[in-house]
Amino acid sequence: MTAASPTVAPSAVASTDAVDALAHELRRLLGVERVRTSATELGLYRRDASNIEGRAGVVCFPTTTAEVREVVRASVRHGVPFVARGSGTGLAGGATPLDGAIVVSLTRMNRILSVDPVHRLAWVEPGVLNLDLTRAVAVHGLHFAPDPSSQQSCSIGGNVANNSGGPHCLADGVTSAHVLAVEVVMPDGDVVVLGSESGEVDGYDLRGAFVGSEGMCGIATRICVRLTQDPPAVRTMLFDYDSVADGAHTVGAIIAAGMVPAALEMMDQLCVQAVEAYIGAGLPTDAAAILLVEVAGPPHAVEDEVERVVAIARAHRCRSVRVAQDDAERALIWKGRKTAFGAVARIKPNYYLHDTVVPRRALPEVLRQVQEIAARHDLLVMNVFHAGDGNLHPLLVFDKREPGVMDRVHAAGDEIVRVSVAAGGVLSGEHGIGLEKRDLMPLMFSSTDLEAQAALRAAFDTTGLANPTKVLPSPSSCGDAHHVPDGAWI
Ligand SMILES: Cc1cc2nc3c(=O)[nH]c(=O)nc-3n(C[C@H](O)[C@H](O)[C@H](O)COP(=O)(O)OP(=O)(O)OC[C@H]3O[C@@H](n4cnc5c(N)ncnc54)[C@H](O)[C@@H]3O)c2cc1C
Repeated sequence: MTAASPTVAPSAVASTDAVDALAHELRRLLGVERVRTSATELGLYRRDASNIEGRAGVVCFPTTTAEVREVVRASVRHGVPFVARGSGTGLAGGATPLDGAIVVSLTRMNRILSVDPVHRLAWVEPGVLNLDLTRAVAVHGLHFAPDPSSQQSCSIGGNVANNSGGPHCLADGVTSAHVLAVEVVMPDGDVVVLGSESGEVDGYDLRGAFVGSEGMCGIATRICVRLTQDPPAVRTMLFDYDSVADGAHTVGAIIAAGMVPAALEMMDQLCVQAVEAYIGAGLPTDAAAILLVEVAGPPHAVEDEVERVVAIARAHRCRSVRVAQDDAERALIWKGRKTAFGAVARIKPNYYLHDTVVPRRALPEVLRQVQEIAARHDLLVMNVFHAGDGNLHPLLVFDKREPGVMDRVHAAGDEIVRVSVAAGGVLSGEHGIGLEKRDLMPLMFSSTDLEAQAALRAAFDTTGLANPTKVLPSPSSCGDAHHVPDGAWI
């Protein structure tokens, strides 16, 4: 890897001739079946799970590190930007290709290469699905701790690139805490390994810089993940409240009492009603909010924590206490939490899922403001969120066939981000910046901060072709935060 002078968000637009020549070369390298250029197939890759559409020039499916390296080298030779893509479940437009970029799909690199249960680590290819890894190592009493709600379909490569989290990351930490090493095809085609199996590195922690880099620092082709031992005992509790504030205050009081539960998740009434109609988990649909608390560890410690958590919830006026009696009941409660996004389809056909973080103490006030913003824009909002770490997920639900509704959705979303940051929070908890929040970066970072981030990016990407125009705003939009992505909002 060689250093380069800092550049900010290079904007590489591929010419049609360059893309055609690249596609021709890729067919020679990978064969016709693994290089797609038909309008229908390109259409399938024009966006991720966000509302931002772009345009792919070519989609290709390498199966080895050597092939990824050759694809990247060919892209550089033809000056065509490339976008790594896992499962496309990202919600910030990170995997959305712009201006005819080449999409490098990692879905066919989906092998678990080795599992070492003694040292609790595994080497995987980036296309391995998150839940498939946990299922594969369950026989050893181990699991992969980051558990995004999308874990049935998102890839480990995408988790690494977005430094993803999940309900159980409160106690265990987000993806970065579970990645020991990454093999990366650098944007100039070099192959390097960042980090090590032991977790020790000499010099700078470049593994740490790569995790969360959203495809801008190269393509992860092999990942060494830390595996976590299954806890000997787990207890899952459900509390319901007449006010969202009481639930949020319970969360703060549990942490203040010195406990860090495995998970602390909240849902508001509209969300509970949608989930209950969807899966029938016996959730109280008349409650203003429910709080899900899971504690894990040695059996005697777990029982002690259950008693302490229940006492705190009662002191904050919870209406009822439900402690899951067996694995089936626990699984049903979690199914309710993890299918919340799917359940919204019962209310309206479309949703826009937001992701911001606020300090825990600000939760009640920011949630109140979120409701007020949605009402002012004549929109419905459902809240389901990682309350323990203040990670809000307001879901704006709507029918996009309604004229003008998208303008209201974007205006409300913009305000939600601004009130979160104003409350001392941050732009994103786990979904990343991508295109969605790129032009809001100046809300949090000065132009000097952004230059420093651009310099780091340029040190990894001397070509300016790795997922360009994502995350870092162009200099002209610094200090003037508003949505002007290159992709089209749909
Ligand atoms: C219903 C739903 C629920 C979700 N819940 C959560 C949640 O609880 N927590 C959470 O954190 N996220 C959540 N997400 C967002 C998303 O699932 C995660 O960000 C996930 O990690 C993305 O993985 P992916 O394989 O789909 O990546 P993609 O969407 O394909 O890509 C995401 C980013 O990673 C880059 N990338 C992908 N693979 C590689 C690679 N091998 N090397 C380098 N860069 C790469 C892409 O360029 C892009 O910038 C949710 C999404 C949905 C739709």
